[in-house]
Amino acid sequence: MNTVQCPSCGSIDVTASQEPGSLPMSYGPDATFVEVNHTCNSCGLCADFTGENDAVVKAAIEKSEAAAAESILRWFSENGVPAVHFERVLRLPMRTTQRWKSGEVSAAALALLRLTRTYPWLLDVADSNYDEHVAIGALIEAAGHAFRAGLCAQFKGGSIAVTQTATQVNINAELYRHEPVGPPVFTGTDRGQVYIQPLAPSFG
Ligand SMILES: [Zn+2]
Repeated sequence: MNTVQCPSCGSIDVTASQEPGSLPMSYGPDATFVEVNHTCNSCGLCADFTGENDAVVKAAIEKSEAAAAESILRWFSENGVPAVHFERVLRLPMRTTQRWKSGEVSAAALALLRLTRTYPWLLDVADSNYDEHVAIGALIEAAGHAFRAGLCAQFKGGSIAVTQTATQVNINAELYRHEPVGPPVFTGTDRGQVYIQPLAPSFG
């Protein structure tokens, strides 16, 4: 049964084929859908004759966005931020997140979710009523975590100790290599900075 008509020549000798597609979705499953392509066997025109693909893709994106919202909120919940806390610090009406999870998630709401998921410390800043000192402190702490995570990728562990007196600040960092290296690596210091020289060439 095929009653689709070619919009160009009017022929109903039309073949329909299905083509799966997907769009990536940040923090959520890909939006997956099946588009229909029509080919007129009389004039060769190939297109979406019935114009249904736009709605199919839109529905898939909306479904994926709701799943992304649900996924982000679940991540917060698993990391000590239940929905009620999320709503309170962001001054959202109660059960707002419930509506988002059920599919009523606007573009602005999804942007808020993605931003807070990417930078969770934004919630601490909001909780302080956007206090400038809290904002700066949270940013520096987050930078410290990112720095440490970067170090951990290169070293199997370590510690950084900071002590200070009235006249000086001492920073002692120990970083443990994954594998021992050959000869000692020379280090040096300069006023206000410390540098580690690259691995010395092998002495053969
Ligand atoms: Zn045609």
